[in-house]
Amino acid sequence: MRGKLVVGNWKMNGGLAANAALLSELVAGCGGLASGRQIAVCVPYPYLAQVSTALKATPIVWGAQDVSEHESGAFTGEVSARMLGEFGCRHAIVGHSERRQYFGDTDAVVAAKAVAALAAGLTPIACVGETLAERDAGTTMAVVSRQLDAVLRAVGANAAKTVVAYEPVWAIGTGRTASPEEAQAVHAMLRARLAKSGAAEVALLYGGSVKPDNAKALFAMADIDGGLIGGASLKAAEFLAIARA
Ligand code: PEP
Repeated sequence: MRGKLVVGNWKMNGGLAANAALLSELVAGCGGLASGRQIAVCVPYPYLAQVSTALKATPIVWGAQDVSEHESGAFTGEVSARMLGEFGCRHAIVGHSERRQYFGDTDAVVAAKAVAALAAGLTPIACVGETLAERDAGTTMAVVSRQLDAVLRAVGANAAKTVVAYEPVWAIGTGRTASPEEAQAVHAMLRARLAKSGAAEVALLYGGSVKPDNAKALFAMADIDGGLIGGASLKAAEFLAIARA
């Protein structure tokens, strides 16, 4: 459902003590957020129990950074969507570019993960985004459409229950961000594609070096409903400033 959403992606960072400090700062600071704005944190699997306790009865929701495409069985190292649900997860990121790049997640695997998340009542945050080489070759729209279409085909009538994040790979963790206009152009195209699947109201997030000083301009764009935040989500003040933007 379209609404303002800011999601922190902790990646493979954290520790019990550091998490406790970060979470308590987030809880203390999230009170002033306008209604209709949601904050989520997507944390490493071992910390889901800690996060579910620390954030219980707070306005902040939580999720995982990935999920298995399989329901259960002999898949050593995998974590199923049902298991995530048991820890109160609301979201699961699927298709983050780091999963695509380092762990070989193909469009088909990402789509299957989105289906698995939905089947367990989780909201998949499906990431799409082009590399610098693809942008320079003028294939941005073709690449992100292909990635989105794979998910839309797989989830069918459930498309409206997803969240989509546009994350240009060249902007992730690099300090380089898409201009608000560059991001909006891609978001408008994604929105039009989603509309054809009856999912025009899906929350469309932008990710890629979002910081307090560029968030406002990005979030002011017509089709940008919030952000997927990596590095800045590890600092409570920065993450809250982005959420307020
Ligand atoms: C991300 O990990 O999804 C991300 C956008 O990272 P960063 O904000 O650090 O670029």
